[in-house]
Amino acid sequence: KVRVRFAPSPTGPLHIGGVRTALFNYLFAKKHDGDFILRIEDTDQNRYVEGAEKYIVDALNWCNIPFDEGPDKNGGHGPYRQSERKHLYKQYTEALVSMGKAYYAFDTAEKLDFHRKDHEAKGKTFIYNWHNRLKLDNSLSLTPKELKTRLDTGEDYVIRFLTPPDEKLYLKDVIRGDIEIDTNTLDDKVLFKSDGMPTYHLANIVDDHLMQITHVIRGEEWLPSLALHKQLYDAFEWKAPVFAHLPLIMKPVGKGKLSKRDGEKLGFPVFPLSWSESEGYKEAGFFPEAVINFLAMLGWNPGTEQEIFDLEELVQTFSLERVNRSGARFDPDKTKWYNQQYLQKKNDAELTGLFIPVLGRHIDLSLDIAQPERVQKIVALVKERATFVSDFWELSDYFFVCPKEYNEKAVKKQWKEDTPKLMNQLVSILENIEDFSFEHVETKVKSWIKAQDLSFGKVMPPLRLLLVGDMKGPHIFDIMGMIGKRESIHRIKNAIN
Ligand code: GLU
Repeated sequence: KVRVRFAPSPTGPLHIGGVRTALFNYLFAKKHDGDFILRIEDTDQNRYVEGAEKYIVDALNWCNIPFDEGPDKNGGHGPYRQSERKHLYKQYTEALVSMGKAYYAFDTAEKLDFHRKDHEAKGKTFIYNWHNRLKLDNSLSLTPKELKTRLDTGEDYVIRFLTPPDEKLYLKDVIRGDIEIDTNTLDDKVLFKSDGMPTYHLANIVDDHLMQITHVIRGEEWLPSLALHKQLYDAFEWKAPVFAHLPLIMKPVGKGKLSKRDGEKLGFPVFPLSWSESEGYKEAGFFPEAVINFLAMLGWNPGTEQEIFDLEELVQTFSLERVNRSGARFDPDKTKWYNQQYLQKKNDAELTGLFIPVLGRHIDLSLDIAQPERVQKIVALVKERATFVSDFWELSDYFFVCPKEYNEKAVKKQWKEDTPKLMNQLVSILENIEDFSFEHVETKVKSWIKAQDLSFGKVMPPLRLLLVGDMKGPHIFDIMGMIGKRESIHRIKNAIN
């Protein structure tokens, strides 16, 4: 059975890149009737951020990508927080030591730093492995007794992986293809520290194994770790999962990975939900379906022209084979386009329900003009132009309040000498209309224009200006029908007198 995991570290809010990783894992799991697991990788106590785990769970829930197993959702492979699995890591690291595949090292931070700087000065990179490990302070040159004594005195240590020299590693990645690595280029990575905590690498492999993970789908930034991970699986004689490293999400302009700063500079969210000062997609008015859809298209393509996919369709269509190798450029305008598409798909009643609280910030909701049936008709008239629900007020304010100002440019252009006279005549026509439905008003006004031998261009634009304050909005008779006889006449008179 396919089992995949999303394994964030709770070091802050989940970046949308993280949400995309979660999404691809989810899609892959559901496509293969498998399980999607959330594992919290919180072994690094120094980077732990309060509230981050809750944020991650809330974000996944908001995006509608629920996990099958995870913290507080036991599926028989828990616990799902690494901090609750400490005992396992110790045990497995010790097993590696006794197999001769890992060793204790006592080098102080100062000493390692010295070597690093010394190498740097010579234009070289310091690699801690077979070249120099015997010259450094580790247990490979100690007798078991000597080692025990040093450990017993409470000296600080780490346990390092013993990378074999002169070997070729053949790594496989579904997205990147085959990769060959020379072990001489690899470090003896730290697996365990004397504070009783494993490093990411050790904990990650032990957990993926114990949790029976079949496919590891994660960001490209973890590709350099793959060589070590593969060696750990081999050292334990465990079957390694299938690996798939997802392409980076790139800045909208220029080079490099999308960062929080790009969002701040260009004014778009980089987090699904708000986090302290940063507004999230949710709060910015995005629909989760739109976020999921645009994230799915970042680094994956269906192989067709289709761009709109709901979650179900994504599950059906998704495959790792169609994940691109190259980085995916993030396009903030495209995210808005997606939202607009999803907004158009929503029915008027739902949009009305979402708009009413916004409307309540501008007018008294107990007024007749704010009654839901009326608001819904207005929503239907303007929604075509909306990207966000919050756009509705600006697009429809004149249905609720008399314009307070008139677009100056438009006034200059549309207002002619005889306009006031014409508008006054129009008022008397309107006053005589009994049934003020839009069809009726349209017929009456049009026949008046014809009878007077006037042009539409002389009447309609100034009329719109008086009713709306601007040249925007749907059909003018729809507007009059909606605001009604009294208000229409009032707005005209109010403006010209
Ligand atoms: N804890 C790692 C992270 O924060 C997980 C990497 C992986 O999926 O192996 O991204």
